[in-house]
Amino acid sequence: MTITPSPANPAPPQVLLAHHLRQLKLPTFLREYEKIAAEAAHEGLDHPRYLLRLAELELIDRERRMVERRIRMAHFPAVKSFDTFDFTAIASLNKPLVLELARCEYIVARDNIIALGNSGTGKTHTCLALGLAACQRGFSVAFYTAAGLVHQLMEARDERRLLKLQAQLAAVKLLIIDELGYVPLSQTGAELLFEVFSQRHEHGSAIVTSNLPFEEWTSVFQSPRLTGALLDRLTHHVHILELNGESYRLKHSKARRRREAGKTAASADPEAAKIPPHPESRC
Ligand code: ADP
Ligand code: MG
Repeated sequence: MTITPSPANPAPPQVLLAHHLRQLKLPTFLREYEKIAAEAAHEGLDHPRYLLRLAELELIDRERRMVERRIRMAHFPAVKSFDTFDFTAIASLNKPLVLELARCEYIVARDNIIALGNSGTGKTHTCLALGLAACQRGFSVAFYTAAGLVHQLMEARDERRLLKLQAQLAAVKLLIIDELGYVPLSQTGAELLFEVFSQRHEHGSAIVTSNLPFEEWTSVFQSPRLTGALLDRLTHHVHILELNGESYRLKHSKARRRREAGKTAASADPEAAKIPPHPESRC
């Protein structure tokens, strides 16, 4: 498709088109229209099919940009997916349930997820992968550690912007709170966190991970009354994931050490290994 400037319109049409496409926020149209025009001419495509191809490219790119934006906004400490998760390493984890949850219907139903288990068993990996799946399926996500969220809530309260932060936390479709239980909370911290759960109750989903079984949550929130009220809300519609077993990190570092020890033994000179060093040897 060739575009010729006319005397009535001295600006080259490409310049105006670029301007209009930017105004219309169609960056893929702008980037691709010449290339696709050449392809369309080559393949003998008519104008509607040429435009359709461009529109499809714009839609695909827009979806990708939105997923990337949701991932940035979620503030994940790392981007992890189930592609790199070895379900055979953690027998206690209900794989069919996890894969079902990765389809994100629990977010539409506003259910919660609680992942419980000892350290290093993949709780953070699991909630990051569920968070990523949610971003990919169009849901807004926010990731916090429990201690980090409480810190931000206290800071917001001191700076008189607590309502704004609470509104943001209430608006997000999936709120992930990792590592509840590692640090006991102050009374104010516990109350602020309780309020977050209270405001989200039946309005939006939350994923909470903890190294502590429910019976020990009182040690985090200090007050049995507050803990009871929180568990009541959080477990109203909940899917529980159990990750109990040997730490994945520990298992892998042990396996690595074993492999390295094996390599060292194999690469050592077998003859030298047979001759013990002379007691007076200086080397
Ligand atoms: P937790 O949050 O339960 O302490 P993490 O999710 O941080 O554990 O896991 C520790 C490390 O081991 C992470 O790098 C994680 O990606 C990895 N990991 C844990 N479990 C698995 C698994 N089943 N498959 C693959 N990697 C795993
Ligand atoms: Mg963790």
